[in-house]
Amino acid sequence: MSRAYNFSPGPAMLPEPVLRQAQATMLEFGDAGASILEISHRGPGFIAVAAQAEADLRTLLSIPDDYAVLFTAGGATTVQALLPLNFARPGQAADYVVSGHWGKTALKQAAPCADARIAASSEAGGFRDLPSRAAWRLSPDAAYVHVTANETIHGVEWRDIPDAGSAPLIADFSSSIASEPLDVTKFGAIYAGAQKNLGPVGITVLIVRRDLLAREGQPRAPIFDYRAQANADSMLNTPPSWNWYVLGLTVKWMLDEGGVTEFARRNARKAALLYAAIDGSGGYYRNEVAPAARSRMNVPFFLHDPALDAAFLSQAKLAGLVALKGHRVLGGMRASLYNAMPEAGVQALVDFMQEFQTRHG
Ligand code: PMP
Repeated sequence: MSRAYNFSPGPAMLPEPVLRQAQATMLEFGDAGASILEISHRGPGFIAVAAQAEADLRTLLSIPDDYAVLFTAGGATTVQALLPLNFARPGQAADYVVSGHWGKTALKQAAPCADARIAASSEAGGFRDLPSRAAWRLSPDAAYVHVTANETIHGVEWRDIPDAGSAPLIADFSSSIASEPLDVTKFGAIYAGAQKNLGPVGITVLIVRRDLLAREGQPRAPIFDYRAQANADSMLNTPPSWNWYVLGLTVKWMLDEGGVTEFARRNARKAALLYAAIDGSGGYYRNEVAPAARSRMNVPFFLHDPALDAAFLSQAKLAGLVALKGHRVLGGMRASLYNAMPEAGVQALVDFMQEFQTRHG
């Protein structure tokens, strides 16, 4: 087998032990006489899988009992569209702090169902920094304040999300959940597509304070009603059971590895290694994000000469380093360093970058 170090922003690298377990149960799950893919989500076998995944996620992220944990289909984008329907009155203001592409997307998805306002934006500076708290213009009547914890494309990350005052903070943690300890109680809601740090694509986690679930929101179909979903244990309809199962395996793996404190340590080391290589390259490579706002999870970087991009990518692939091409919005390169990426992978990337510079400098 020749698995490369996969720097994909998502769907992203999964831990090999998780893939091996998933492979085994793909054929036969426990004593079910069938694959995990072939059993009912209402049967005791899957109900136990779902409950264990939730219990383990609660342990991993220290989620208090006054928060519900929902597992939904439709990705983080669908959550973005459903936030105003569930948590804002018709026409009510909702404040968005926009620090990159995904903050803009969240605003766009909310706009049809709320008075979605830009409370602050760092777009004028090319999203190379975070909008400072002093510049946030919050609406007195806002249903919530939305922030993006980590911008997957622009590579900017809030390390300490500021307090938003009286309105509940809702945070998109799609690309940084479980990468370090998190104080859930600072937030009204946290959501994350699983395909970066929590497992496979096809399932999204929403952690929501129960008093928000009591809000009337707006007329919506029951399937889009988070209160109804919470009451039905996220099984109003057939959930993405395979994805839920693999998410559970991934969460269990993170607990076995030492939990979020251990991943915080590993992620800090990995990011420091790569940024040091970029900053120490004498301008051959560059990252344009303000140092205090640099993401530990997604590191966009540019070669001094974009004409070398294609050679960089093809030679990286030969060296066992894949999915380094930057997002089309920015160009250049991007290395995503989620929990499943070992430090050895980042060391291999840094070694390759130095060799490439020597060869093509
Ligand atoms: N928010 C962030 C921060 C993301 O990185 C992404 C996907 N890369 C999304 C939202 C959208 O997620 P999905 O594709 O699961 O809808």
